[in-house]
Order: sequence, then C-alpha cells, then structure tokens
Amino acid sequence: MPEETVGFIGLGIMGGPMAGNLLRAGYPLVVHNRTRAKEQELVSAGAAAADSPREVASQCDVLITMLPDSPDVEEVYLDSDRGVIAGAKAGQLLIDMSSIAPAVARAVCDAAREAGAEALDAPVSGGDVGAREGTLSIMVGGSDDGFKRAQPLLDVLGETVIHLGPPGAGQTAKACNQILVAVTIEAVSEALVLASKAGVDPDRLIEVLSGGLSGNRVMEVRRRNFLEHDFTPGFKLSLHHKDLGIALRTARELGVYVPTTAIVDQMLAALEAAGDGGLDHSALLKVIEEASGHEI
Ligand code: NAP
Repeated sequence: MPEETVGFIGLGIMGGPMAGNLLRAGYPLVVHNRTRAKEQELVSAGAAAADSPREVASQCDVLITMLPDSPDVEEVYLDSDRGVIAGAKAGQLLIDMSSIAPAVARAVCDAAREAGAEALDAPVSGGDVGAREGTLSIMVGGSDDGFKRAQPLLDVLGETVIHLGPPGAGQTAKACNQILVAVTIEAVSEALVLASKAGVDPDRLIEVLSGGLSGNRVMEVRRRNFLEHDFTPGFKLSLHHKDLGIALRTARELGVYVPTTAIVDQMLAALEAAGDGGLDHSALLKVIEEASGHEI
C-alpha cells in the first residue's frame, strides 16, 4: 500500500477524476477546491477535506494541483496567508499539473526550494477521458530526484510519463501539444465543412481518412462532437485560448514563427467574445461553418 499522503487541490473536470484514481490506488488523500461542494464525492469515498491550500500542504507529503491558469497557480502557491508555500515542509514534493506559463512554473519551483521543498511542473494531455481512465500523457519538468520520487504516483494517473528537462520544460512541451491539437481541430473543421458543402457525407469522410496519413486522434476522439454539434466540454475553449496565449508568448520570447497558431488563437478569441468560452474546443467548427454559410 502507498504510504505517502497526497494532497490534491483543484477538483474540476480533470482534477476530480485524477484524485479519485489516487484514492483507488490506495493513497491517503487530503483534498481542497475553491467551490467546496466539489470535495464531497471524494470525501464520501474516503478522502479528508482541508479548508485552504495551506492546510492541505501542512497535512501531506506530496501535493498535486490541477488549476485553470497561471494566476490561479500563483494564488494557490504564493498567497502569504492561505498559500501552499506558507504551509510547505522541508522534503515535501509539490507537483503542479495545470497548464500554465513556463515562467510561472519556474517561479513556483524557486519559491518551493526556498521553503526546502521540491517542485515539478507536470502538465498533461489526454483530456477528461484520459483523466478518468488514468491514461494521460504527462510532461515533466524539474530535478531528476523529484521526478524519480513522483514517478510511481504519476504512473497511476498516466500511461506515458516523460521527464523533459529542468523546471518549465514540461510546460513548454504542453504549449507545443496545444498548438498541435488546436491546429488539428481547425484543419478537421475545414475538411468537414468542405466535404459536407460539396455533398460528401462527413461521417464517411472521417471513416475513409482515418485509414490514411491524415488520420488523427482529434478526428477519432471528437468525431461525435463534430457530427452532432455536441459541444459539452471536454476541454473548455476558454482554456485552449489561454494555452495558445502561452504558446504565442513563448514563441515571441524565443523569436519563433508560428503563424497558424496566431490565426487559430484569433478564432478562439472570436468564439470567446461571442460567449462560447464554456463550450468544448471542437466548437471551432462553428467558426468555419458560419464563415462558409453551411452547417454540416
Ligand atoms: P476546471 O474544470 O475549470 O477545474 C479547475 C478547478 O480548479 C475548479 O474545480 C476550480 O474550482 C479549482 N480552482 C480554481 N481556483 C482555485 C483556488 N484558488 N483554490 C482552489 N481551487 C481552485 O478545469 P480543468 O478542465 O479540470 O483543467 C484544469 C487544468 O488542466 C487547466 O490548466 C487545463 O488547461 C488543463 N487541462 C485540461 C484538460 C481537459 O480536457 N479538461 C486536458 C488537459 C489539460 P471552482 O469549482 O471554484 O471553479
């Protein structure tokens, strides 16, 4: 049986099922979420609840966070009164699995080291399905020792767990992942609308293309969402917009040319401005449909 007590903060679409998997694997668990009602299901399954991030930190050996964005991670870790670092202990391992800016991941890592703790950035890919099934891809930045200690626990949450380099390296990999997913959703949307307006059945199109070089996971996993216009998240479009912002800022810092990412970022901005930020990112299809005057 695992002996280390795990703290888990951020029990949303991803964090809730991930925490549940750790509990089922036998880890003693302490949880906290801003909307406290989200703790109830895990408490009923045997977890303890804590009143603040600081309280979680004071009760665990390894702490995991799964929060929306960089400012949330800064608040949860660095708030001098209620934050994780304020309650951190020497020897503790802090793993942030949110998708955030690499620079913020490095700042959290520095603050952890000052408190005698170790921090890893370990963002994920694989979506809500991967979170539930424990099959996520996990991209890790941080020290070798921190990675070795985290590995058994990350193996419960994911199938592909890779250490990419120093603090921030995991977040850089995640930004690359988000470029590929967004651009693929946009390209699939263009293909589906073109086929449909030309009178080719989009469902059959996906079937035939899946057997060739253009076959991809987006088409496989989001097939039903596209075809039925079911944009229940999944992955909220506003979060993907946030991730492309991280990718664009990082590219600008490094002087890297990412024109297609910039265009898809603007499409997501338009959907968000129209009040669609809470829809699944496959709703990018709507932009292409509206501009083409054709619904598939
Ligand atoms: P989500 O459903 O919005 O969950 C975020 C959770 O964090 C919410 O339950 C929220 O509480 C909680 N939270 C926010 N601020 C907090 C604070 N200060 N203290 C305590 N709890 C706080 O988002 P998600 O889809 O799980 O995504 C989480 C992260 O994973 C994001 O960075 C996202 O980009 C990344 N990600 C998501 C997916 C996906 O498919 N969903 C896939 C890969 C990566 P409230 O209930 O109060 O809002």
